[in-house]
Amino acid sequence: MARGEHAVRQAADVIVVGGGPAGAMAAMTLATRGVSTLLLDKKRFPRDKPCGGGIRYRVYRRFPELADYLRTTVAIHEIRKVRMEGPSGASVLAESDEPFYLTLRRTEFDAALLARARAVGAEVLEAVRVSDLAFSRDGVTVRSVDGRAFTASIAIAADGVNSVVARQAGLGDGFPEGALAIDTMEETDLAELAPADPETMYVAYGYRGYPGYGYVFPKRHHVDAGVGFLLSFFKAKLGGAPYEHHARFVEDARRRGVVHGRSNPKNFKAYRLPLGGPLARTYADRVLVCGDAAGFVNGYTGEGIYHAMVTGQLAGQTAADALARGQCGAAGLASYEARWRREIGRELADSLRIQRRLFARPALVDTVIRAAAADRRLCRLLARVALGEEDLRTRKLELALRFLLARFRRAPSAVRAAG
Ligand SMILES: Cc1cc2nc3c(=O)[nH]c(=O)nc-3n(C[C@H](O)[C@H](O)[C@H](O)COP(=O)(O)OP(=O)(O)OC[C@H]3O[C@@H](n4cnc5c(N)ncnc54)[C@H](O)[C@@H]3O)c2cc1C
Repeated sequence: MARGEHAVRQAADVIVVGGGPAGAMAAMTLATRGVSTLLLDKKRFPRDKPCGGGIRYRVYRRFPELADYLRTTVAIHEIRKVRMEGPSGASVLAESDEPFYLTLRRTEFDAALLARARAVGAEVLEAVRVSDLAFSRDGVTVRSVDGRAFTASIAIAADGVNSVVARQAGLGDGFPEGALAIDTMEETDLAELAPADPETMYVAYGYRGYPGYGYVFPKRHHVDAGVGFLLSFFKAKLGGAPYEHHARFVEDARRRGVVHGRSNPKNFKAYRLPLGGPLARTYADRVLVCGDAAGFVNGYTGEGIYHAMVTGQLAGQTAADALARGQCGAAGLASYEARWRREIGRELADSLRIQRRLFARPALVDTVIRAAAADRRLCRLLARVALGEEDLRTRKLELALRFLLARFRRAPSAVRAAG
């Protein structure tokens, strides 16, 4: 072997790149079906991922096999109240008997999912940063920056918003600026920064009239707060350091009585979030792309953990089926698109439509919030749309009518939105 060359290892039937929720679910699904699976991640776990850590409660119903495991291994906090506020300060409190969201720490959650993938038989190699792919008639070779090479029949890209694998597979050149947001977060101990009401999530849509949002998510022992703006807006109009805007939001939230205490810059992180919808194509020869790598994020709530888990599982199922049929080329993997479209396609398309309207006219947020505050049924419908449980198109007429009627009603202070 020439100097600098490393042995190519026939690693597994499927290599999953990335061990976040998308990659862990893909590896778990494959290993459960008896497919030999190798997962590579550039980090060592437990590792943190900049995130609000809010995930829709429906995750328990969608993944019943994980519900008890997650409840017992991760410190989960249940959220039954969400206060949504518009730029004018108009607000509505949605309440429900069944929680809307669970909040958790990504360090714990991601480590738990990855441990589960290992426990069902996936091999996991940490501290392996993937740099490129090479394709041959018989397989795909995944190479890492330290010169190692691993071959398999299929590679699954679960390597997040800056996906190397999607690029290497010819599925685009990374997300353009217009399809990205910059999101900030700090996860701070309750002794330093605490929500006024530990049961209530706070979301400020169109915060300061900007195309974006601010949020305060109470967790079991922490609070997670941050702001998100379209990256193009941030660069062209806002400028400055992301922490300035983050700290201003936390200070605004403190003045409004939403939180007590102060921001701790040591816990601050800013990261990119794909907010422009899924890639035009999410599969190629021997490659499937899931989670943030493919842009599976709700366009106006910024929620992506659930979508990463769903698409990770669907990618795992598609890869296992393709292997069983011996068809690992693009044609053999094409059913992946139909699978994810059937489950989350409508929600993602609706979320983009809503995002474009609200981000173009933040004052519209106030109109929507006032109407929701005046009409309990409308508030429930909007909450269900945000949670992907209701389809905007089939409810279009009812929503339009209720908006009109709500303008003539007086708003109660709190609305029970579901359940
Ligand atoms: C500030 C912020 C707040 C957010 N808040 C929420 C929220 O409250 N709720 C919600 O649902 N979503 C939220 N999101 C979005 C959510 O974090 C993502 O949608 C989710 O993490 C996507 O999961 P994933 O598995 O696709 O990718 P990731 O979680 O990003 O995992 C990708 C993995 O790939 C690894 N990796 C990357 N490159 C390589 C490489 N070259 N080689 C090997 N490994 C690699 C990384 O180390 C990482 O472990 C937020 C995002 C941001 C930025």
